[in-house]
Amino acid sequence: MLKAVRLSRVYGGSRGAATTKAVDAMDLMVAEGEFLGIMGPSGSGKTTLLQLLGTIDRPTSGEVFLEGQPLSSLHGAELAFFRRRRLGFIFQEFNLLDALTLRENIIIPLVLERCPVPEIAQRVKAIAARLGIGDVLDKYPYEVSGGQKQRAAAARALIHQPALVLADEPTGALDSRSARSLMEALAGLNEEERATILMVTHDPVSASYCRRVLFIRDGRIYTELRRGQSPEGFYQQILDVLAAMGGEAGGRVVRA
Ligand code: ADP
Ligand code: MG
Repeated sequence: MLKAVRLSRVYGGSRGAATTKAVDAMDLMVAEGEFLGIMGPSGSGKTTLLQLLGTIDRPTSGEVFLEGQPLSSLHGAELAFFRRRRLGFIFQEFNLLDALTLRENIIIPLVLERCPVPEIAQRVKAIAARLGIGDVLDKYPYEVSGGQKQRAAAARALIHQPALVLADEPTGALDSRSARSLMEALAGLNEEERATILMVTHDPVSASYCRRVLFIRDGRIYTELRRGQSPEGFYQQILDVLAAMGGEAGGRVVRA
């Protein structure tokens, strides 16, 4: 479904300045319906990778193919349309519009697509029920909890059934209970609606909901883990890899 080939993003280097290889010749394959976690120390290139996959940034070299289409072939209005239609984004800071209710925020992607009003109403009802925010849809972001805001942001990212959902630290601003309920919702959407989700996270508990976790370091893939039967066993395996990787990600886990 998604394929990255020798993907690189180099920052800096103009007028003799030092360069940073934020993403360094990375190869990546994501199957349809996967729930993939991405972990690694701060500065290892996770956000840059997500931005390249999400057409927010362009690679220095290499190519990303989404459903066979090279992303470098998309420009201007076509690129904006593709991003809006085929992708969904969830950010750490929610990025909801304060002047709109949760319902109005959630339906933005459908309004942009000129989806018929009855269909919008039906889809918002279904996704809100899945995410457990049906009773707060007519509240404004400042009237609800962080966890509810993030579930509304997830609803907005998923309501137009994008090919790919990209989430950058979606549980980073949440307490552990809200984080768990968001992860349960995302895991459910992944399993039941086959939504393909790529999620960057620092949190090994959140990562343990994924079916596969990629560990990156210095812009390269360090290793990957696949979840077997037991989520608890997977959590422990994730901790072990983070400890073996050392650095800040490992240290953070030991302190947690
Ligand atoms: P992560 O999300 O894993 O913390 P990032 O992708 O944000 O890592 O950053 C990877 C590397 O690229 C870091 O060394 C960071 O300082 C550098 N970097 C990220 N964005 C920029 C930018 N816009 N300009 C220059 N360097 C950047
Ligand atoms: Mg980041």
